[in-house]
Amino acid sequence: MARYTDIRLDCQFCGACCKNSTANQAEGYVDYVPMEKGDAILQKPELMRRYGVLGKGGAWYLALTSEGRCKALRGALGGRVRCEIYHYRPSPCRRVQLGTELCRRYRRDHGLETEVR
Ligand code: SF4
Ligand code: SF4
Repeated sequence: MARYTDIRLDCQFCGACCKNSTANQAEGYVDYVPMEKGDAILQKPELMRRYGVLGKGGAWYLALTSEGRCKALRGALGGRVRCEIYHYRPSPCRRVQLGTELCRRYRRDHGLETEVR
C-alpha cells in the first residue's frame, strides 16, 4: 500500500485535478476536461459562453487559461480554491474522488504531495 506525505488532503485546498499537467501540455494535449452527453452545463448557454470551448474533434471541453487551469477554478492551487460552476461541473469532474489513486496522481503532478516508498 502506497503512503503519501499530504500537504492537506482536502478538495477545498487543492484544485490539482482542475489543471492540465505540464507533461500533458508538453505532449500537445490542449483539451482537458470533456463535457459529456447529458451534462447539464450543455443546456446553459451563458455558462457555455464563459467556460466552454469547442475541441478540434467537434466535442465541447472546459476552457483553460494559458496556464492550463480550468477557467472555472478560483484561487491558487494548493490554497483555498473554489469551482465557479460546481453544480454544473461536467461528468469527468464528478468522477475524480478524494484520496483515490487518480486524485493522488493529479496531486503528485502538481507537487501537492509525494509518495513515500
Ligand atoms: S479530488 Fe483530489 S486532486 Fe481533485 S481537488 Fe480533490 S483532493 Fe485535489
Ligand atoms: S469545472 Fe470545476 S471541478 Fe471541473 S475542472 Fe473546472 S474548476 Fe475543476
